[in-house]
Amino acid sequence: MTRPPPLPSSLERVEVPAFFSPSRFGALGRCKLSVLGERSASVLLPPGVHALVGTLVHHVRRELSEGHWKAELSQEQACTLLLAEVTQQAEAQLARTTSTAALVPLNEAMGFRAWELRELRLRRWASRLVLKGKNGPVRPLGDLLAVPTGQGPDTPRLETGDEAWLVAPSVRLRGRADRIEQTVPGTFDIIDFKSGRLHDEEGQLLPDATLQVRLYALAAEEAGAGAVRLLLEGDDRHHVPWGDTERGETRALLRTISKKLPAGKTLGTEDLAEPGPHCRGCRLRPSCRRYLDWGPNAWTHPPLPGQEPPLDVWGTLERVATGARGDTVELRDANGHLVIVDGVNPARGLGAMAAGEMVYFFELERTEDRRAHGRVVHPRNFHESPPDGGRRLRQARSLQVFRG
Ligand code: SF4
Repeated sequence: MTRPPPLPSSLERVEVPAFFSPSRFGALGRCKLSVLGERSASVLLPPGVHALVGTLVHHVRRELSEGHWKAELSQEQACTLLLAEVTQQAEAQLARTTSTAALVPLNEAMGFRAWELRELRLRRWASRLVLKGKNGPVRPLGDLLAVPTGQGPDTPRLETGDEAWLVAPSVRLRGRADRIEQTVPGTFDIIDFKSGRLHDEEGQLLPDATLQVRLYALAAEEAGAGAVRLLLEGDDRHHVPWGDTERGETRALLRTISKKLPAGKTLGTEDLAEPGPHCRGCRLRPSCRRYLDWGPNAWTHPPLPGQEPPLDVWGTLERVATGARGDTVELRDANGHLVIVDGVNPARGLGAMAAGEMVYFFELERTEDRRAHGRVVHPRNFHESPPDGGRRLRQARSLQVFRG
């Protein structure tokens, strides 16, 4: 029987790129390694299902916005057909890779209710579209699992249209805005589509989205724009203020990060990694030493709701028992607690491991709800395949297992 693959070696050093991407700048502020390390890691966790569906929705919106739909269809019909087509393309891609095959079908992986809501919101958005009359062919979905190359033009550039380049070497910014329109000569509307929610609990526009378009504005002005208007488009369009105050704040932030990350310099990852609840969305976790050190400590300190560490666990293997629902794995975590992972697919090869070896699980699902005094305690009972057959508990579709 094949044993689980070895834990990838830790990322030790990364090279700082010449340009920063506005779309990743919010993440860069929380943990520099999470952005700078992606291209250097030998193993990445699969993207989360919500991020994948967000990419699909983004693609559908872009194609419909550009008028890539047949004139005889209503906007909503075109939207439904296009989403079905793009979903099929996405599922074919995901099914080809072992680590993402369990994410197919996507509506089941996301949860039928959440999928329906996302589709409903997309159709509602499409119903307000005005047909542009281009009716061009729909472009195929790009590679969902590709890591952005970070390549692109390196001279000042301010394009218009869809996926328009904005390049400003003077402030080290390079990115592609979803859409840039020149409304009158010298004045530009920069529009970014957002497939997920746009507001936080207080009703404020999400800081990452706001920062992203402000960085676009800065790049556009550096590249020659006379005036810029910023729009975030979710279910509705929202204006993002852009004036002297915002310009000054954005410049100051950019200067601070640029100083800490000199272009072309090779830096040690220990200084760049900043573990915290945001590690949940990070695909570098198996090769991030700081995260692997931080995790066991975070498991024993009840975090505030919404700040829980990722549903990962690792420790010394004690026992593997095979039953009708797969393998039941017992391990002793770094805090000395007994942890049980149930319903593990025997094909993962845990039965071929010996007691005393280190075993690492990433992206599990919790079998128990461990709430204490309004806080959530890290579970000690997890599963891959849910013991209730999926009635209430979810399958761990993105689970990755490694041996030490
Ligand atoms: S796992 Fe956490 S600390 Fe490590 S790179 Fe990702 S976000 Fe940063």
